[in-house]
Amino acid sequence: TGQLFIVATPIGNLSDITHRAIEVLNTVDIIAAEDTRHSGRLLQHYGINTRLIALHEHNETQKKAWVIEQLKTGLDIALISDAGTPLISDPGFPLVNSCRESGLVVTPVPGACAVVAALCASGLPTDAFQFCGFLPVKTLAKENALNAIQDTRKTSIFYEAPRRIRDTLATIARCLQAERQIVVAKELTKSFEQFFKGTAQQALQWLDEEPQREKGEFVLLIGPAEQNDSGIPPEAVKLLSSLTPLMP
Ligand code: SAM
Repeated sequence: TGQLFIVATPIGNLSDITHRAIEVLNTVDIIAAEDTRHSGRLLQHYGINTRLIALHEHNETQKKAWVIEQLKTGLDIALISDAGTPLISDPGFPLVNSCRESGLVVTPVPGACAVVAALCASGLPTDAFQFCGFLPVKTLAKENALNAIQDTRKTSIFYEAPRRIRDTLATIARCLQAERQIVVAKELTKSFEQFFKGTAQQALQWLDEEPQREKGEFVLLIGPAEQNDSGIPPEAVKLLSSLTPLMP
């Protein structure tokens, strides 16, 4: 039988692709891409002429069976997404899961991933972290997701759309302790890459300083909750910290 390769592609800078990724993309029989037009440009850049098929969240359940059939006939297939590592907030989970259940060989070809790129340069603790994907869009669900990390002692990482970054920072300012450290990492590996580190309130001010700052691709990182060994309930600590600015 053939192998399914999970191949990471760049998240901005076209040079962020490994030698092995290029070799695999050149030698497999089929490349399954999230968006064939988008990936066509990347493949053209590297002179790769492998047959391309579309596998995205809307056709994955149907396409999956076909891909598995091809693997069983002995063809090798590479899965790529529009950017970074497939399956990380991208299609591919049902396919990989089914391949594993069918005893097929699934091989990772690692490379760029926005979560790891943002974390390693953020200056936030890296010893323990959780990736939470995209935050919910609706206010209540978003507040619940943020309240859930109130006492989390690890760095929490989210993807966020540019049109929601301001609202999300305001929600963080409302839900979490005022001094909680956050990092906004934008346009990673691209010409206008930027990191902002501070409180949610300071991040909002930073956005206000230049309208351009709200545009682009964002990773949002929230530092670990401060250790609270005082015996005071976390809600009381939060209340006290929200009152601090009002004290003389
Ligand atoms: N599979 C990708 C990965 O490995 O990171 C993530 C795909 S997800 C659909 C796209 C989101 O990832 C964007 O909305 C943004 O939050 C984040 N992202 C991707 N590339 C980025 C970059 N160059 N800079 C900052 N964030 C990025």
